[in-house]
Amino acid sequence: MATASSVQPEMLRTLPSDAARQVQWGFADRFDLQMLVQATRGVARGPVARLVASGGRNSHEWTPAKAELLEAFDGAGITAVFMEPEEGGLFAGPKNLALALVAFELAWVDGGAATASLAGCLALSPIHERGTEEQQRRYMKLAAPAQPGEDRKPWRGAFCLTEPIPYVGVDTGMLNGKLRIVEWKPGQEPILQVEKRGRFITNIGFANFVTAAVDSGDERIKGSCLVILEEGDPGVFDRGTPTKKMVHQLSSTGDPIFNLRVPASRIIGGYDIKDGVLVPRYNHSEVIEAVFRRTRVTVGVMTAAKLLSAVEPIIRYQRGRFRGAETATPGSVRYELGLQAREDALHRLVDVWATGEASASLAFAAARAFDELDPLEKEMEKLYAERGISGGKAKAKLLREAADQAVTLMQLPAGDARRDALNSDLLLRFVALDSSADVLCPAAKLWNTGWGAQTMREAVSLMGGYGITEDCPGFLGNKWMDAQLEATYEGPEAVQRRQLSVTMTNPVFLAQFRGWIREMRGIASEHPGTGACALATAMSMWLWTLDHLQHSKDADGSRLYQSARQGVTFPLADALCWLVAAGCQILDVLRLQREGTNDASLAEGLAGLVNFLSDLCHVQSARASGEVARICAELVFGYNRHPAWDEEGTRGCWHADELDVLEGFIPGINSYALDVVKGDGSHPKKAGPCVECHAAQPFLSLHARLDACLTGSRLAKDRAAEAVSKLMIPEALDYPA
Ligand SMILES: Cc1cc2nc3c(=O)[nH]c(=O)nc-3n(C[C@H](O)[C@H](O)[C@H](O)COP(=O)(O)OP(=O)(O)OC[C@H]3O[C@@H](n4cnc5c(N)ncnc54)[C@H](O)[C@@H]3O)c2cc1C
Repeated sequence: MATASSVQPEMLRTLPSDAARQVQWGFADRFDLQMLVQATRGVARGPVARLVASGGRNSHEWTPAKAELLEAFDGAGITAVFMEPEEGGLFAGPKNLALALVAFELAWVDGGAATASLAGCLALSPIHERGTEEQQRRYMKLAAPAQPGEDRKPWRGAFCLTEPIPYVGVDTGMLNGKLRIVEWKPGQEPILQVEKRGRFITNIGFANFVTAAVDSGDERIKGSCLVILEEGDPGVFDRGTPTKKMVHQLSSTGDPIFNLRVPASRIIGGYDIKDGVLVPRYNHSEVIEAVFRRTRVTVGVMTAAKLLSAVEPIIRYQRGRFRGAETATPGSVRYELGLQAREDALHRLVDVWATGEASASLAFAAARAFDELDPLEKEMEKLYAERGISGGKAKAKLLREAADQAVTLMQLPAGDARRDALNSDLLLRFVALDSSADVLCPAAKLWNTGWGAQTMREAVSLMGGYGITEDCPGFLGNKWMDAQLEATYEGPEAVQRRQLSVTMTNPVFLAQFRGWIREMRGIASEHPGTGACALATAMSMWLWTLDHLQHSKDADGSRLYQSARQGVTFPLADALCWLVAAGCQILDVLRLQREGTNDASLAEGLAGLVNFLSDLCHVQSARASGEVARICAELVFGYNRHPAWDEEGTRGCWHADELDVLEGFIPGINSYALDVVKGDGSHPKKAGPCVECHAAQPFLSLHARLDACLTGSRLAKDRAAEAVSKLMIPEALDYPA
């Protein structure tokens, strides 16, 4: 009879199925989304893949073949995802997860195709988030695909914020686009002249309308706004020349020039007239903040899809690498395993896979959070109306009070009945979810795309020379380059880091973060193989470091944690992303383990899949912990000046003659003393006397503990590598090369 210790754990048999992904990413109960995934996949692995394989990416121009993809999106229901049913949409309710799944499926094959689809939603988003009812009705209807029997083409949109240098880029406040009043008859609506030059504007080759950011160029208009421009408006609607980009060639990008007359009703969200001045209800920053908050999540999803899509082609390449050679006869290790007989090839693939899992989990968690937040935002609007709260200051006061209350409740021990209000009270639920969404979104955009682009390079390298050819299965070379664009557009990494450096210090987020640490410890006690314990220790280290930096100064007396000090705040934001991503990954695997048994189609290979994915969690947690330890150590110690061999620096050192005297009383002390200065002033050859780190002692203890927490992580990697070498994959990729 087999003893417990001799029973081999179940191994992974196949790549994760759709059913497994549905549970992991939280849409097992959404048949509508499952159908959407299948429909989108048909387009991605059909027309999109064929266009890439036939060289569609070799031109910057917007070609008829590329335009056909838009029709394929319409036909598959992709265009309609953004709209409500009454506007011609597919389903009611929040759309963040749905859009994330569309992005995932399209980017699995080509990021440009995903962008072409999403840029239409980006153009509509300002109208969706802040538009007047009339604006929403008009543009959603126009942009929805034609219903059966309707003879019209859906309108396509472009979102135009970025301007030619030296104006809008990362710094979105530097607007040059101008809005002036050219006609204002008494009692009538003002007519505006809009001048805007765009740079790198997606969809511009075919857009019928544009949502453009402009500033007042007229003393009768207050501040900035977003304005809707239409192709047929009187004046100049010049699409400009196509951008010669090296990425995402299946989307259209160019530098347009607009000089158009439009009615003031095109100002997104409307306007008021105060003392003869036209005051837009929302300035451009307020609108783009509401827009990017959601749309950046889908960009993060795209890079995750690339990483996970690389797994199957790499396995196939590695296994078949030596087949056909005389020495590689069927049955031999060379024939059967190919490059997978080599540990490094497997380990690197495990790293790529683990990063893909973590980034998908992070981005889908962010998308789900916004799906939860959207209805809460609407309820909040009702609550403001009921309480007669209208001004920004009054709202901020209410939210501040709710935030204080939420933090107090979150600090109560688990099981305290007063904590129930955190789930039942609208205001408390809102501030909690809002603060975590404020972190999840920039984290998904920053980490998935930035670290994802680095990891895509690893994926490409695993295919050798093939990886950087057009023939590479899975188009991995394209995906590597495309990932860099995903890290850049909708605000490059600096923008996300800047946002995180503010939102991650929100006390409501930090109170939840402490809760996550407790949650990870709890998980670790039930599922030690996930690496959750190491992650919890790394989370504690991050928290200690943040607190330390917020209350410390550098060697010259300057405050460390402040907005201008990006050398402090940005790396700490990066460190947080590693933690959040690895945490989301663990939670998704546990959901699969818990709920996967409900699905008969999953039951057979579930244990092996969960074991494998848990090992990937362990690998990722260890990597994340190491990154956090490295970043935090540099920040905690790096801003202190190292002692020198001068009078001040040697004040705490032993002097050789003192030691000689002491040796008489305490035999052996000589051998313990460091940094001994000799009578002639000579000293050991090093940078200076070693640093005394009393203030950082808790950090050093955490560091030592974290190192030990990595125990077992390499065994997990070995197990994952073995599983990767044994799992079955289909004979051929299901889309062309
Ligand atoms: C293919 C493509 C499609 C695009 N589509 C659109 C679109 O549809 N609509 C649209 O409006 N825009 C679009 N963009 C523009 C895109 O959003 C911008 O390129 C991006 O936001 C960066 O702006 P920038 O190129 O001016 O970079 P810059 O502002 O010049 O930034 C360059 C680098 O400098 C650093 N940096 C800049 N400012 C700071 C700072 N304050 N702190 C720290 N570091 C900083 C960052 O590292 C940054 O990455 C697109 C771009 C491309 C390439």
